[in-house]
Amino acid sequence: MPDVLTSEQRRLNMSRIRGRNTKPEILLRRGLHAKGLRFRLYRKDLPGSPDLTFPRFHAVIFVHGCFWHGHGCHLFHWPSTNKVFWRQKVGRNIKRDEEVLETLTAERWRVCEVWECALRGSGRMEIEPLLSMIKRWLHGKAGRLSIPDKVRKQARSREHRSSL
Ligand SMILES: [Zn+2]
Repeated sequence: MPDVLTSEQRRLNMSRIRGRNTKPEILLRRGLHAKGLRFRLYRKDLPGSPDLTFPRFHAVIFVHGCFWHGHGCHLFHWPSTNKVFWRQKVGRNIKRDEEVLETLTAERWRVCEVWECALRGSGRMEIEPLLSMIKRWLHGKAGRLSIPDKVRKQARSREHRSSL
């Protein structure tokens, strides 16, 4: 591929490369481990290679970066340049997340999404209540959990309207 990335794209690509083992993710992992929960990392044999897998609970956790996964929260902003490129890229990620979720659910996996904005930035949660919420979910019966749960799930629709 020719070297046509803008500096903004390069910065965002770098932030994607750092998408695993990020500081908030490690904080979350340490906390869950300290609560006696045991998990495996990035299982490649499962759809989407979940960040954490809890075999005992038949449950997985994804820690989603709000930009890459198109979260409709205050951390998400469309880049001002190469709009088509970013819409396609983020749009593909959103579609892929939906497919992964469908496949895992069909295989009776329970799925928790922890969004970056729950761990970082002005809206972040205290770590203890966050860990307790996850622990309760693991021991409970609910199939799905999204943290935070009040945010509009996708950045997509609003952005489509405003671009018209
Ligand atoms: Zn978010």
